Amino acid sequence: MSGKTMEFNAEVAKLLNIVIHSLYSNKDIFLRELISNASDAIDKIRYIGLTDESKYEGDTDWKIKIIADKTAGTLTISDNGIGMTEDDAISTLGTIANSGTKEFMQALEKQNSKEIDLIGQFGVGFYSAFMVADEVTVITRKAGVKDGVKWVSAGDGKFTIAKAKRKHRGTDIILHLKEDDKKYLDEWTLKNLVSKYSDYIEHPIVMDIERSKLDADGKDTGEKEIKEEVLNSRKAIWLRDKAEVTQQEYNDFYKHITHDYLDPVRHIYFKAEGTHEFAALLYIPSKRPYDIIYKEYKSGP
Ligand code: ADP
Ligand code: MG
Repeated sequence: MSGKTMEFNAEVAKLLNIVIHSLYSNKDIFLRELISNASDAIDKIRYIGLTDESKYEGDTDWKIKIIADKTAGTLTISDNGIGMTEDDAISTLGTIANSGTKEFMQALEKQNSKEIDLIGQFGVGFYSAFMVADEVTVITRKAGVKDGVKWVSAGDGKFTIAKAKRKHRGTDIILHLKEDDKKYLDEWTLKNLVSKYSDYIEHPIVMDIERSKLDADGKDTGEKEIKEEVLNSRKAIWLRDKAEVTQQEYNDFYKHITHDYLDPVRHIYFKAEGTHEFAALLYIPSKRPYDIIYKEYKSGP
């Protein structure tokens, strides 16, 4: 299929250059960013479908699937979220000036390139894929749209875009892993990363796992079978035992829901047990929102 080649906007190209060539601390976070995008995409279609059920296309079995293909050397993060049109892909994955790009680079300069962890908070998390992949392919089809789209880039200043087939609505992000990053195909590594960074994601994050087949008595039959396993606990952070949740997890959750890039000053956890039971988690942001006194203000009649 012939496609067209386009250039990243200058700031994105610069950001990609930094991501690819100078950021080697905590590469692990790429998976969290891609899973977070998949989860956002599912939330979007779930919301749209409330008023236009045809957009669901009969598929509301929300799922984020991780596929590690050792032969091809690819790691795929697949979702049945909203998907993207060609225009969406062009504008969100590369050409239009994204204010977050500039802000993120400024933060990097200030923090001596240590703050790659923050990448998601600046709205440029997708590009973290290029820390571990020498080529990224995105195959996507938007809800209610017939044609799919294939977006490919090696992060070298340009990307190609072409029509593609995708039967089901949603998006596959296919990472062609760099030689040194093949460890991200390892089942144990992936499971660990999901439970470390993406445990609180509400939708199931699944992976096909090969296991020994057991007979009715639980004995190994010597045969193998492949089963889809859910990797995240999906348990709300406020329902988990306080003693087993780390400060880091509380902070990460705060940033996930608020899109604040700063840690909160503190969090307060409260649990009441009696005839009625409830648990509450309160965060105090470290900065006052700029619109705190205007938010409820409405002008006009
Ligand atoms: P952010 O998630 O903060 O908007 P990202 O750089 O992580 O920033 O993603 C950029 C944009 O790309 C998203 O806002 C979304 O429009 C689009 N996108 C990325 N991944 C997906 C996906 N799996 N499904 C649909 N859209 C996506
Ligand atoms: Mg994101």
